[in-house]
Amino acid sequence: MLDVHAIRSLFPILQQQVHGRPLVYLDNAATTQKPIAVIERIDAYYRTTNANIHRGAHHLANISTEHFEQTREKTRAFLNARETAEIIFTSGTTDSINLVAQTWGRQNIGAGDEILLSMLEHHSNIVPWQMLAEEKGAVIRVIPIHDNGTWQVESLDTLINERTKLVAVNHVSNALGTINPIETLIAKAHATGAKVLIDGAQSVTHMPVDVHALDCDFYCFSAHKLYGPTGVGVLYGKRELLDAMPPWRGGGEMIKSVSFEKTTYNELPHKFEAGTPHIAGVIALGIAIDFVQSLSWSEVTAHKQQLLDHATALLLEIDGVRIFGTAPHKAGVVSFNVASHHPFDIGTLLDQQGVAVRTGHHCTEPLWNFYGVPGTVRASFAVYNTLEEIESFITALKKAIHLLS
Ligand SMILES: *Cc1c(COP(=O)(O)O)cnc(C)c1O
Repeated sequence: MLDVHAIRSLFPILQQQVHGRPLVYLDNAATTQKPIAVIERIDAYYRTTNANIHRGAHHLANISTEHFEQTREKTRAFLNARETAEIIFTSGTTDSINLVAQTWGRQNIGAGDEILLSMLEHHSNIVPWQMLAEEKGAVIRVIPIHDNGTWQVESLDTLINERTKLVAVNHVSNALGTINPIETLIAKAHATGAKVLIDGAQSVTHMPVDVHALDCDFYCFSAHKLYGPTGVGVLYGKRELLDAMPPWRGGGEMIKSVSFEKTTYNELPHKFEAGTPHIAGVIALGIAIDFVQSLSWSEVTAHKQQLLDHATALLLEIDGVRIFGTAPHKAGVVSFNVASHHPFDIGTLLDQQGVAVRTGHHCTEPLWNFYGVPGTVRASFAVYNTLEEIESFITALKKAIHLLS
C-alpha cells in the first residue's frame, strides 16, 4: 500500500493549521499542492541557472536550455508520445485548447462543419470552440449524459457523422469524476475522419496516459493539477497535424528568419512557443513528473478509490445528501448537495473548520443546468489525502448542517 504519511511529509503546505484546525485540503481538482522538490527546484533555478533559453549565448543559457529540454523529454516519456517535437509547452490546459482552436480549428473547420463536445465539459473546452464556431458558421453538438453522469454512448453513432470535424472531450470530468470511455470515442471518430482532442487536465494525476496507444490527435493538461507549478501546460499533438498547422502567436523563438518582406517559421515544437516561456515552471514540471513516476500507479488509483468509496459511503449516511455523478468508473471527485442548503454556505462552514472544498459550478455550468441545480459542494482527492481526513471532513460537514438547520 501507498505510504501516505511519507508522501504527506513531502508537502510543506499540508503541515499547517487553518482557522485553528489542521488543514484538510480537498480541492485537488482545482489545483494540487506541490512537493518540496518542486518548490526547491524553482528556487534553485533562480538562484543558480536563471538565463533565457535557446540562445546558446553563454554557460547559464546552455544549462537552462538543457534542463528545459529535459522536461520536454520527460513529458514525452510520461505521455508516451513518439517524439519530443510533439510536446508543446503552453500556459495551461486552457491555453493548449485555444492554441488548437485558433490554428488547426481555423484552418480545418468551415461553415456547416460540426464540433462535438460533451455535457461534461469544462468551460475551457466549450468557449474556444464556440468562438471558432461563431467565426466559421460551424455547429456545436453535445454528447448527452445519463443521470449517473456517464455519456450516452449509443448516441455517438448518430452524433459522429461525415460533418463532424472534431470531437473535444475530457478524459475525466472535473465536476463529477466520471472516467469517460475515450477509447471507444476515438475509434468511432477516426472511422469518419474526425480528429479528437482530449482534455486531460484531471486524468494525468489519476492514471497512466499513453497517447500513442489511445491514438488521440491532441492531448492537453496543466502542470498545476499534477503537483507542478501554475502557468505551465502541455499540448501533445500528432506531428503530421502540428506540422500542417499555421503558427498562432508571433514573436521571438518561433521564427527561422524575419524580414519586413517575409518571415519563415521555426521547426516544431518551437513554432508554437513564441516569446520567453515560464522556464522555471517548465523545469519544475519535470520534477513533478518525477514525483508522480516515483509512485506506483496501481497503488495511487487504489488509494484514491479507497478515499472516494469511504467519502461516498459516509456521505450517503447523512440525511438529505444527494451525490451528483455515480458512474461505475470514477476518479477521486465527489460532488454533492445537502437538502436545500446552499453549497456556498456549506463550503464556508467547512472552511471555518479547516476543510477546503470547492463550491459553485466548477466551470461546468451546462452540466448543472442539466441537473437543474446552480452548483454543488465538491471534494476532490489527491495522493496525500488520508482516510482520517475524510472522517474529519464528514464530522465538519455534519456540524455545518447542524448549524444551518
Ligand atoms: C482545470 C481544468 C481545465 C482548465 O485548466 P487550466 O489549468 O485552468 O487551464 C480544463 N479542463 C478540466 C477538466 C479541468 O479540470
